[in-house]
Amino acid sequence: MVQNIKQCVQMIRTFAPREALQYAVRSMLLALATPLLAVLIERCINTVVGMSRTEFLLYFSLLTVISFASVWLEHFKRTASVALTECLVEKCTPKIIDKLNVMRYSYFDNAATADIMERVSRNPVEALAQLYKTIITCIALAIRIFSVALLYFQLSFAFGVTLILLMVVEIAIGIVSNKEFNRLFSAELPKERKLSYIGELLSQKESVFDFKLNQSIGYIKNIQKNLANSLLKERVGINLKAERYYLINVFMMLVWTAALLISLIKGRLSGGVELGLFCTLLGSYPILSECQSELSYYLSTMGKDWFLIEALQKFFAFDEIEETESLTETLPEIVFSHVSFRYPGTEKFVLRDISFKLSAGQTIALVGANGSGKSTIVKLLCGLYEPTEGTVTVNGKDVHKLSLHSRNKLFSAVFQDFQTYSMSVNENVGLGNVQSISDTNRIRSALEKARLADFVDTLPNGGDTNLDHLDAGGVSLSGGQSQRLAIARAYMNDAHFFLLDEPTSAMDPVAESHLYQSFSDIIHGKGAVLVSHRLASAAIADSILVIDKGEIVQYGTHSELMSSEGLYKEMYAKQSSWYAESGAQE
Ligand code: ADP
Repeated sequence: MVQNIKQCVQMIRTFAPREALQYAVRSMLLALATPLLAVLIERCINTVVGMSRTEFLLYFSLLTVISFASVWLEHFKRTASVALTECLVEKCTPKIIDKLNVMRYSYFDNAATADIMERVSRNPVEALAQLYKTIITCIALAIRIFSVALLYFQLSFAFGVTLILLMVVEIAIGIVSNKEFNRLFSAELPKERKLSYIGELLSQKESVFDFKLNQSIGYIKNIQKNLANSLLKERVGINLKAERYYLINVFMMLVWTAALLISLIKGRLSGGVELGLFCTLLGSYPILSECQSELSYYLSTMGKDWFLIEALQKFFAFDEIEETESLTETLPEIVFSHVSFRYPGTEKFVLRDISFKLSAGQTIALVGANGSGKSTIVKLLCGLYEPTEGTVTVNGKDVHKLSLHSRNKLFSAVFQDFQTYSMSVNENVGLGNVQSISDTNRIRSALEKARLADFVDTLPNGGDTNLDHLDAGGVSLSGGQSQRLAIARAYMNDAHFFLLDEPTSAMDPVAESHLYQSFSDIIHGKGAVLVSHRLASAAIADSILVIDKGEIVQYGTHSELMSSEGLYKEMYAKQSSWYAESGAQE
């Protein structure tokens, strides 16, 4: 716990040192005001009873000043609290986004690191600020409790000591249950991740549509129910355990209170306890028990946020891409040399001994069955992963070591799982080159090249129409239109190579063939890697790599491959007969 507190304070100090200090100082001063006010009340009562006017005026003035100071401090503590959260949001959130940009892509494939990212993606900054405030509040409460407890030593040594002991037990229970919560929350994370994933599925129209169609909603509901039940059971179990300890403590506190009351009344009746002390101790007791229950509450609930600190620390320590290399050459050449690859955390090689060259201005098509490794080659090509064996270089430099800037100049990519965002059409396209996001002429030209401009003209607000049907005046695109949009986005970037990984799967063969024809005109002079399951589209490439089970089994131009026996000719014949049959049926 001490380690966690240290880590939290360190992290806060990195992002908002001044605001964190202001919040802490104001909280501590407020905490010290409580015993001071109690002592001054005692003195005021005693001096009134003893008729010593000057002393009374002195204590009363001090009491007034400190009361006003407390109100003032309370106000400034609240402003410091807001300032702290704002400062963290302003400074820490951009750091998280920057880190996501430079951390190794392979972290997204690993279950353990995916859990960390799940935590970090859930508004961690505000939770971090809250955690720091909770820590400071606990320290301030402990100061209040122990300084007020000192007043009870005036009654008797035994009262003072037993009170302090009870408080220590209380804090110890808080720490133990806190640890339990911490352990529970770490263990529960994979379940929570699944639960939030199911929540997401149930709020997305595509998946709900799928569940309805397949009548599978009952099955999903069951998974959700089982997960939620098992989480609830574990949490209730720990809460009950903590509750038992609290009850024992509350019982001991009640016994202590009864003894206090009896002792105070007896002391007052015998004249051993002054009226001031009598009133102060009676008056302080409710404050003391309120502070005590607040402290228990904060200590026992803090555990669920410790994991956040660990997650943030691990997240910031993730390896970053070494962006040391930059590319200045105007005619880059990419070389795959004896590349074998397995995905991080897996044993199976999905690519074996892949070697080929891609020069500036050259177009290569990758063809092969599903799962043969085509997309993996594209991911290695643009440096998202490092090869397990062999190298992928551009003019002798490792692709994965290139700076993001150089990679952006080198590649413009459309992947199978491209995204459309709930933004305007123009923004969706402009994101392909953020420097030109306001350049409507350039966006228009990209839309025209992708054969989407005519459709955009029919939209209520043209290029300014939002791509979200939930937005007033917004629209949803069809699968084929979304793919054209993604291609238009790729056209925005004047990169050396286009990487198109099945970007036309949702289009009909005629539309696809038109798009590839115009593509070969548009990319004139640029290099490209095309992945398409329709072999007729691959024919526009200068050379074709036929991939089977992670290996290159054939290499050549369309006519070369068609003139020799092999997988390409077999696949081409199968596809042609399929189109011929479906054409005849139509
Ligand atoms: P293709 O593009 O030819 O359909 P892929 O390159 O997508 O094939 O996949 C090749 C193999 O790698 C498949 O067996 C697939 O299951 C596996 N694979 C793809 N992505 C991952 C990943 N992130 N983690 C582990 N295995 C993966």
